[in-house]
Amino acid sequence: MATERKVIILGAGPAGLTAALYAARHALKPLVLEGASPGGQLMTTTEVENYPGFAEGIAGPQLILAMRQQAERFGADFVQRDADALELSGRPFTVRAGADAHVARALIIATGANANLLGLDNESEMMGHGLSVCATCDGAFFRDKAVLVIGGGDSAMEESTFLTRFASRVSVVHRRDELRASEIMQERARSNKKIDFLWSRLLVEILGTAETGVTGAKVKNVKTGEVEEVACDGIFYAIGHTPNTALVQGRLDLDAKGYIVTREGRTATSVDGVFAAGDVVDSHYQQAVTAAGMGCMAALDAQAFLDALE
Ligand code: NAP
Repeated sequence: MATERKVIILGAGPAGLTAALYAARHALKPLVLEGASPGGQLMTTTEVENYPGFAEGIAGPQLILAMRQQAERFGADFVQRDADALELSGRPFTVRAGADAHVARALIIATGANANLLGLDNESEMMGHGLSVCATCDGAFFRDKAVLVIGGGDSAMEESTFLTRFASRVSVVHRRDELRASEIMQERARSNKKIDFLWSRLLVEILGTAETGVTGAKVKNVKTGEVEEVACDGIFYAIGHTPNTALVQGRLDLDAKGYIVTREGRTATSVDGVFAAGDVVDSHYQQAVTAAGMGCMAALDAQAFLDALE
């Protein structure tokens, strides 16, 4: 059965929730399809230290909960399921989620991005058996164990530092001999005695089975070609993200990396009435606060669009 809304928001991370807050306060009565695992990447972030307004920091899930409650207070409705299909060829747009069809004259896409994988043979077999893309979720399973963190960006530094709460040793495996991470994050990791760095190395094989868990790894020195075996009990990937744009592929303009293209300085996409915000648009800043800012912009843009229709 189709329920008509003025605006439907896909995604409930900082972008989707801020869009919901603004849309709700403009009496647009937004429906948020928050996905089967709502909240986005902040749900797997321990301490958010750079979201303005929280001088002492705030836990990611707590920040998301507060944003959701704030949007609900002004009348946003939430459905905890993924959208399966979008029909954008004519207005109102249709969003299908299982047997339900939701229709709206404006859509805001805020579906975020997901962790990248390396594509090694036994990756899917080992995922959850010593291999993880989320230190916050799985770190506690590695108390007094040795783990590898793959990557050299802020995520790799943040996850390595976090993992030292549990692990006896954290080795950062990075494909170059200099880090991409910001100075402060690098410094925190470099000064942590439990963290060491395996420079210019690529993870080429995960050793172990689903039964044994991870027992070690083979890493290749990209300068010498030499492959060495490293004993470890866990491996955490922190090698960037891919935007969740499968639903809009072929329907909205995407850039070469698959991010939704928006009009410069705005949130309008290539289809009138469809707006996009947050990590699904932004491969550069990828911050909770920039996502939230874009969510606000998307709601204001959607409202102006709806006003112009009337
Ligand atoms: P990122 O900055 O894109 O870093 C990804 C890292 O993984 C890079 O060091 C990259 O190596 C490496 N990598 C990528 N593909 C690889 C592959 N196939 N094999 C081996 N290594 C590979 O991603 P991120 O660390 O997830 O950060 C994304 C954004 O979020 C950034 O803007 C970052 O500042 C932000 N962030 C901020 C915080 C914070 O401030 N608290 C925390 C986390 C993330 P190269 O360096 O050689 O390219």
